Parts: sequence; C-alpha cells; structure tokens
Amino acid sequence: MPYQNILVATDMNDECHPLVERAQDLARASGAKLSLVHVIEPMAMAFGGDVPMDLSMLQQQQFDQARERLDAFASRYPSLTPEQRHLAYGQPRQEIHRLAREQGCDLILVGSHGRHGLALLLGSTANDVLHGAPCDVLAVRLTRPE
Ligand code: AMP
Repeated sequence: MPYQNILVATDMNDECHPLVERAQDLARASGAKLSLVHVIEPMAMAFGGDVPMDLSMLQQQQFDQARERLDAFASRYPSLTPEQRHLAYGQPRQEIHRLAREQGCDLILVGSHGRHGLALLLGSTANDVLHGAPCDVLAVRLTRPE
C-alpha cells in the first residue's frame, strides 16, 4: 500500500534540503500528505538537566527563534502550509515518535550522515528514531556541503 502520511524530521541545516526533496518526491508519487517537524532540545538538557535558574524566558526565545528558522527553512516549499510545519519541545526521538503517532504518519524520514569513529559509537538521531518507531523509518544519506 502506498504511504499516506509522511513526516520529515529536520534539524533545519541546509544539508537537510535533499531530505525534504526526497520526501516531496515520495509524497508526490504516492499522493501522501507531507509534514515537517523540528524538535527544540530544552536548555536544561544541554546543561545536564540540573540548572539552578529560571530558564522560561530563554526557552521562549529559543521557541521564537526556532519558529522563524523553521518558516525560513520551509519557505522553499510553498506547498507546505503552516499546519504542516511542526515545532516540538523535548528529546528528538520521543517527540518525533509522539508526533508521528498523533498525526497517524506511516513513514518518518531522517537524515543520515554515515558517520565514523566516536560519533558512530555515540549514535545519531537517525539511529535513535529507528528504535521503537511507530511506523516505517527511511534514513536518507546526506552529504555535508563543501
Ligand atoms: P544527527 O544525527 O543529530 O546529526 O541528525 C540526523 C538527522 O536526524 C537529521 O538529518 C534530521 O533528519 C534528524 N534530526 C536531528 N536533530 C533533529 C531535531 N532537533 N529535530 C528534528 N529532527 C532532527
């Protein structure tokens, strides 16, 4: 059965555009709905979860900036309406799975860098998203721009 609802997870870097283009091709070929998600990682996570200060204002700024970046990133894809551009807050794997479940997605696309060495040992978001995913996951190989 063709895919009906495709979710693209993006970190909003320029190298992610081929990922969205691939998703658009797939969506066109199967007549599927397409949406994007970017997950904002809470500042407390970056600081190890234990920060003795109120981060709510910084978090709001983080959210506003991410919204602007997502709109700029998605402006290349006029067919993606604002309702098809999701921002979530939390741990990428958890949030991508939650949104895929909520939206009834049957395919998630993530970028894969084909890393080596330490980065490979530490794992990647693509690897993370694959585990326990509520639907199929396609990892699209990305190359860093020169
Ligand atoms: P990474 O392994 O973190 O370099 O990311 C690999 C892929 O995971 C990216 O190309 C995106 O498809 C996805 N990804 C990474 N970080 C995020 C994020 N914060 N929100 C949504 N997707 C992400």
